[in-house]
Amino acid sequence: MYLKSLVLKGFKSFADRSVLGFEPGIAAVVGPNGSGKSNISDAVLWVLGERNAKNLRGQAMEDVIFAGSSARKPVGVAEVELVLDNSDGTLPVEFNDVSIMRRMYRSGESEYLINGTIARRMDVLDILHDSGLGTGTHSIIAQGHLAEILQSKPEDRRALIEEAAGVLKHKQRKAKSQRKLERMDEHLARVRDVVAEVE
Ligand code: ATP
Repeated sequence: MYLKSLVLKGFKSFADRSVLGFEPGIAAVVGPNGSGKSNISDAVLWVLGERNAKNLRGQAMEDVIFAGSSARKPVGVAEVELVLDNSDGTLPVEFNDVSIMRRMYRSGESEYLINGTIARRMDVLDILHDSGLGTGTHSIIAQGHLAEILQSKPEDRRALIEEAAGVLKHKQRKAKSQRKLERMDEHLARVRDVVAEVE
């Protein structure tokens, strides 16, 4: 799986529709300070379901919508579409190209589309669940965060390595199963009490 393209329209400094194409391997985005490089990684985070405006370097979610410039009026809607090449079947869907789109209006209304069909944020998270992409993962490391990681406690750094190695998701599933087992034990104890009372 790899990031194939990113389309931005009305998102932060990208007022006009801009299409970025990527090839497998390493891609670098270069440009002068303030030209919008970080806005591109913000767009990736946002389209994958980010809900915290601060993680997108803003105060409110509305800040992702192009706010106008000396030459342009503000726009009313921000749109980002991300296309992943899924020909290796990493994502649990039958499409070779998986398009995830997020749209947000100034009124606060927002929607997600998966391959052109309206979806919920949860559906986007579900598709990405085992891929290492998505909110809460370290697939995007923001400026300044790198130093934080290098200076972090060994246990925290270990969690990061586990995430990259794909171990973390199994740990999360184990914890979920353990919680379920505990709930079952409680139910069982209650049933035993009832049976004892009846007997
Ligand atoms: P640096 O190299 O300094 O980190 P950069 O290339 O990463 O810079 P960004 O931080 O991505 O630049 O872009 C900053 C620019 O985006 C600023 O000019 C800012 O005014 C503009 N910008 C951010 N949000 C919006 C918005 N909602 N509407 C219009 N412009 C915006």
